[in-house]
Amino acid sequence: MRSQHHLDCRPMPTSVTPPEPASGDASPRSLALIRSEADLAALPASERIRYRLVGADCRFHANDNISEFVHPGETEELKAEVAGHMQAVLRALVIDTDSDHNTQETAKRVAKMFIDEVFRGRYQPMPAVTEFPNVSRLNELMIVGPISVRSACSHHMCPILGRIWIGVLPNEHSNLIGLSKYSRIVDWIMTRPQIQEEAVTMLANVLQERVKPDGLAIVMEADHFCMQWRGVKDLDSAMTNSVMRGAFLKDPHLRREFLSLLSKKTA
Ligand SMILES: [Zn+2]
Repeated sequence: MRSQHHLDCRPMPTSVTPPEPASGDASPRSLALIRSEADLAALPASERIRYRLVGADCRFHANDNISEFVHPGETEELKAEVAGHMQAVLRALVIDTDSDHNTQETAKRVAKMFIDEVFRGRYQPMPAVTEFPNVSRLNELMIVGPISVRSACSHHMCPILGRIWIGVLPNEHSNLIGLSKYSRIVDWIMTRPQIQEEAVTMLANVLQERVKPDGLAIVMEADHFCMQWRGVKDLDSAMTNSVMRGAFLKDPHLRREFLSLLSKKTA
């Protein structure tokens, strides 16, 4: 079974002696185990990375970070592969990229935009975050936000633009992280094809693990361009999601305090 908790995934050591393949056993799983990095070098980068992920039994959904399986230089190879396939998409859309000067470099531009910008949270490791022990034993509700969110839905790859507020109730054992680091972690989680509900849960898991607060609350409000640009074309539809953990679940006063401070900030 695939691991549900992708943060536990670690690449397989490459020095493992490959087991003798049993005759007639050619399932993808056994192939993944018998290929060495030298064998993989002949494959396109996306196939090499996929082999490592399957071999390590690691999930690689649209919103999973796979940076530990991407070797140095391979994102450049991925960009070239994506550009080639984007060129085929333009061709299938019957766009004359030879004479239309607007679309001549479009495939390359889109590939670069996906890998280096809008989906970079899949290919780059988590930003370095320094944690400080809570020496002054802060135990007051702290609110960070609004933090701008730029993401894309994994159903249509349409933009999602919105804002996030994070409420933290630390205890004396919590680790504190700098305010700007919340934005960097949000950005890392959101620059992947996402589903809003899963994105806020992922963010809550990462913050819970790093900060270890008594309570954690996250509210995300966003415009989904797949509702506005296509589909029902409802220009006023925004989606709001929240995650409440620990003290925010148990204590209705704390929850109210967070939500009322948040509504004052929105006004
Ligand atoms: Zn969508």
